[in-house]
Amino acid sequence: MHHAAALWRVRPGEYPRPPALSREHQWDGLSLGHGLGLAAFESMLLHGRQVGPVMSCTIHQVVHVPVTPWDGRRLGKGLAVRPFDLSCLRESFRPYNECPGRMWLLPPQTEDDAVLTDFTTVFDEIHRLRSGAASTLHANSSTQETR
Ligand SMILES: [Zn+2]
Repeated sequence: MHHAAALWRVRPGEYPRPPALSREHQWDGLSLGHGLGLAAFESMLLHGRQVGPVMSCTIHQVVHVPVTPWDGRRLGKGLAVRPFDLSCLRESFRPYNECPGRMWLLPPQTEDDAVLTDFTTVFDEIHRLRSGAASTLHANSSTQETR
């Protein structure tokens, strides 16, 4: 069951970029797998946490979210932050800016287009989702190959 469409304002294409990506304040680009990322942001929204704009790529199946600068905590598997960078990655892991599968998922409140999602809140939410869903994921993953 997925309620994503009801939460986001979808805006195809890259430009104009939402005001959260202002040059006036530092931000980091956090990249997450599509399923995990959207589950985390939707859980945050449903719990009244502020979530800013999210860049979604349907080709690479990732979401890139501008977050408050990374506090230096050790990142878990599948997490990466890059300063001022929301680009998709090629297999060579070099930034790839001309990806055609990208769209903005904007938060429900238009004023939140200027909000940077709080890094610590996302980090904690991902940790919570992973530990809370561990037994379910394990049960479902037995038929899937390990990457
Ligand atoms: Zn992409």
